[in-house]
Amino acid sequence: MSKNKNIPEGKKVCETCNGNGQAVFSCCTGEVVDDDIMMCPKCHEHLGEEDCPDCDGTGHVDMDKEDFTDKIPGLNTIAEAMRDAAKYPD
Ligand SMILES: [Zn+2]
Ligand SMILES: [Zn+2]
Repeated sequence: MSKNKNIPEGKKVCETCNGNGQAVFSCCTGEVVDDDIMMCPKCHEHLGEEDCPDCDGTGHVDMDKEDFTDKIPGLNTIAEAMRDAAKYPD
């Protein structure tokens, strides 16, 4: 089902919609409904395809965006370590 689109440099295929830009999202859980019947698995309401919010319907997302969010927990850890070091001076 995935179309082969040219991905601009510095971008990668959106994993939420598999690069389609659009997907069927559950009205209850917000998760992608990966099913031919396009029905919400929770309330069984029929759903249509929507623009993917993760990539704004473009099918690709910034590589930097994800790298940046990956770095945040590390920064928090360093901040906590510094706070602990200040709390317990030797
Ligand atoms: Zn997407
Ligand atoms: Zn639902």
